[in-house]
Amino acid sequence: MFAIRQSGLTQHCAMSAMESSTKKYVGESVDSISQQVSTQGTTPVLRVNEIFGPTIQGEGPDAGKPAVFLRLARCNLTCEWCDTRYSWDLESYPEIGSVMDVGEIAERLKREVVSDSTLIVVTGGEPLLQTKGLEALVPLLYDNAIAFETNGTLPPSKLLDEWCSHWTVSPKLENSGVAKELRYRPKVLETFAEMGAAFKFVAWESESFDEIDEIVETHCIEPASVWIMPEGTEGDMLCDVARVIVDDVISRGYNLSMRHQVLIWGDTRGV
Ligand code: SF4
Repeated sequence: MFAIRQSGLTQHCAMSAMESSTKKYVGESVDSISQQVSTQGTTPVLRVNEIFGPTIQGEGPDAGKPAVFLRLARCNLTCEWCDTRYSWDLESYPEIGSVMDVGEIAERLKREVVSDSTLIVVTGGEPLLQTKGLEALVPLLYDNAIAFETNGTLPPSKLLDEWCSHWTVSPKLENSGVAKELRYRPKVLETFAEMGAAFKFVAWESESFDEIDEIVETHCIEPASVWIMPEGTEGDMLCDVARVIVDDVISRGYNLSMRHQVLIWGDTRGV
């Protein structure tokens, strides 16, 4: 049954790839948040929520790799289960971040890097709200691979893609509680799929897989590029949820991503 579905999918995807080969960068406008946070006179700046490391990447295709993190402030979504509300929820966390010069940020990150194999992970919040400042930052980090994490609602710039070693895109599902027109941007996902990005979905029940499969098929994403991550901020809960969804992951050829940071350190910030 699954093989037949996959066969039809392959045909559709081959056609789609040909039709869309000229529209890699869709150029959708970044909303007003980005204008609030990426400029301060002529100096390139970023609104930073936290810089931490050295640690390990806890999630997705790089799980277990040595990493330092740059978490940018602000997000254009408001997921109900968000575990980093402190990066965007201004009502609960009025001091969500400080404006920093990109040179100062690069120095801080380099100070925490252990070796050339340490990944620099840019995350949020939604980091692509601050594309302009990031474009000024990335050339300063030339010694290390830079991995971007994004919610898949804003398009990557060509320059960021040139400096990025890989993208992990985490499209939000109905379980986020966010309206579909805000969280689902087909052209952006199509762009990332063509770029070979990894896709990470948060799930805690089998019902979410119909929605995940639909996104995977619509955007011709290889199952090997899909990571399913159980929701949970405590180790026991995470393992319980993983047991609920693991058969759905295996039957589709997707990858399971645990959250190493939760298993090791629990619900702790900055690790
Ligand atoms: S997109 Fe990510 S950072 Fe933004 S609210 Fe959702 S989970 Fe949180």
